[in-house]
Amino acid sequence: MKIPALLLLWVLVLPLRAAEELRKFAFEKAEMGLPFRVSVYAADEAAARAGADAAFARIAELNAVMSDYDSDSELSRLSRTTGGAVPVSTALWKVLAHAQTVAERSGGAFDITVGPLVNVWRRARRTQTLPDAALLAEMRARVGYKKLRLDPEHRTAELLAPEMRLDLGAIAKGFACDEALAVLKQRGLPRALVGGSGDMAAGDAPPDQPGWRIEVAPLDAPDAPPPQIVYLKNCGIATSGDVFQRVEIAGQRYSHIVDPRTGLGLTDHSLVTIIAPDGMTADALSTAVSVLGPELGLKLVEETPGTAAHLVRKPAGKIQFLESARWRDVPRATR
Ligand code: AMP
Ligand code: MG
Repeated sequence: MKIPALLLLWVLVLPLRAAEELRKFAFEKAEMGLPFRVSVYAADEAAARAGADAAFARIAELNAVMSDYDSDSELSRLSRTTGGAVPVSTALWKVLAHAQTVAERSGGAFDITVGPLVNVWRRARRTQTLPDAALLAEMRARVGYKKLRLDPEHRTAELLAPEMRLDLGAIAKGFACDEALAVLKQRGLPRALVGGSGDMAAGDAPPDQPGWRIEVAPLDAPDAPPPQIVYLKNCGIATSGDVFQRVEIAGQRYSHIVDPRTGLGLTDHSLVTIIAPDGMTADALSTAVSVLGPELGLKLVEETPGTAAHLVRKPAGKIQFLESARWRDVPRATR
């Protein structure tokens, strides 16, 4: 009698002890031109490090597919084609297909064909001069999500206008976080958080915690409300806005996010944070909502299952603070 009872006790206690023995490890590495961080609970450092290395390797692999800076990337090679169906890899297909869905649903506010205009704004930032109207008009002729045709049956992409340029800057980081998290999970490390600047994907919660404790990025204004702290697990979170990258010309701030409908950098001083079932959805939506503005943006979020939005804006010098209905259900920490 005695031995089985002891055995039972041991079997019951073992999982508890295993959970207790998990320790948190964090690693950082520059990937996609940004600092990426992997936080993971593991039994020992070797397991954590091996997992993080594999996660970073996956991000590097995806960068080689989706970078618009690397002229050899699969994306850059696709961008150099015009009028011909090009077969694309599984990873690129997933991102292109998701991007086109968000483009459609946002009425073209989110648009990965925006590359030629993004280039113009990058140059404007370097030279501190506004692009002239003729150049903007020329670039706009190369932009428009309907000029990217996807064939789901054959998994091909076709660029319908000459000199187009695809830019996955608003969606690839979120996807990379999801993929890195999946790598950690496959290695038996599901309690993990992966994040680039502004984009994160959370796996299972840390032991004894309701989720990963994450501070929602605050607006860089002295009168902005204190940042909220949320607990997240098994979802993605992304923040977009002119706080991270912008250009100031003749006293006007322009964001690195372009409104494809006008060809201009956004001038709205805002920060949009989205929580979604995965990092890619959060990343794309945060950019889409930034372009759409609060009214249409929140409508898009309410219509997208499992997503929640938090917006801080400063129109006409006064702080405005908006949340979607589902944001109220996000677990919060009281500092
Ligand atoms: P994010 O920081 O996720 O909002 O992404 C911003 C980046 O996405 C920019 O640096 C551009 O590379 C790209 N981008 C700019 N405007 C748009 C847009 N309207 N739709 C999709 N991508 C965009
Ligand atoms: Mg984004």
